[in-house]
Amino acid sequence: MIDQLYRKAVLTVSGQKQIESLVRSRGWSVAQRFVAGESAQTAIAAVGELAADGILSNLDLLGEFVASPEKANEFAAQVLHLLDAAHAEGIKPYVSVKLSSVGQGQLVDGQDLGLTNARRILGKAREYSGFVCLDMEDHPRVDQTLEQFRVLVGEFGAQHVGTVLQSYLYRSEADRNSLDDLRPNLRIVKGAYLEPESVAMPIKADVDANYRKLVYAHLKAGNYVNVATHDETIIADVQHFVLAHGISKDAFEFQMLYGIRRDLQKELAAQGYRVRAYIPYGRDWYAYFSRRIAERPANVMFVLRGMLKG
Ligand code: FAD
Repeated sequence: MIDQLYRKAVLTVSGQKQIESLVRSRGWSVAQRFVAGESAQTAIAAVGELAADGILSNLDLLGEFVASPEKANEFAAQVLHLLDAAHAEGIKPYVSVKLSSVGQGQLVDGQDLGLTNARRILGKAREYSGFVCLDMEDHPRVDQTLEQFRVLVGEFGAQHVGTVLQSYLYRSEADRNSLDDLRPNLRIVKGAYLEPESVAMPIKADVDANYRKLVYAHLKAGNYVNVATHDETIIADVQHFVLAHGISKDAFEFQMLYGIRRDLQKELAAQGYRVRAYIPYGRDWYAYFSRRIAERPANVMFVLRGMLKG
């Protein structure tokens, strides 16, 4: 409950325009702990650094809720550029995309622009033997994202596209069951948005219990799981679960965010687990940064100290 109140406070305050412009103008040096620079080139350089520690990468051009079709197409063009740039560096691209950033919910020529742009991105990702994960956003977008995911798996195959389920949502267990026929590659997360109690569990222990339930069910069903968490207890439990059930290390991977628990990322990679870091980059870092602050009270002090210094 305290966690929920803290998150609510941070996300409410960070939504205020004055706070946003203050943090945008003075906070970049602090945000760099979580964001790998502003350009595709800096993000690609981070891929190389992580690879030296045996850690795989997931590139994410920051941006969400794009209001016009022009902006959505521009954003999609930048993702296509990222795929080209990664491929040119000999990297099999693995990227994450928020459908709201490429036009989800905007109708153009009778077709959802988010789906049209996702098809363009996936066409190129497939050409480069790459992978696209459709990030999960706030709850009003879940239905459409899962519907579009189903369409895209049908067109491009589950080896090229995955999506995310959030354990704080009551609906996620039913969603996982309903997707099972696709043999989907799913990332399981706890969930990062400010959601009402009518749709999301307010108690952290329940979110954590549901997290385990979703991961175990997806592993037992023989599907690929991206265990995306920094929670050491859950990570240890998953390690025990796979050992007890004879599930191979190829059936899942651990995923964490750039700048968070790099020590743990390295340790797991050294133990032979597949580990992937989510590398966000780009100018539109504010909303992503606010969610990271909302996850951990200690991060507020880190931001304030950094802003006062700099
Ligand atoms: P928590 O219980 O919140 O944290 C466990 C421990 O991890 C903490 O005690 C702390 O040591 C460390 N930690 C966690 N967060 C931070 C932080 N910000 N700073 C420093 N330490 C921290 N959410 C979505 O809603 N949609 C998505 O598509 C999505 N994609 C994600 C992809 C990846 C690879 C990851 C790792 C997370 C993603 N998330 C997404 C965010 C997720 O929902 C959680 O908000 C976030 O991972 C924090 O929860 P946790 O599982 O690490 O557990």
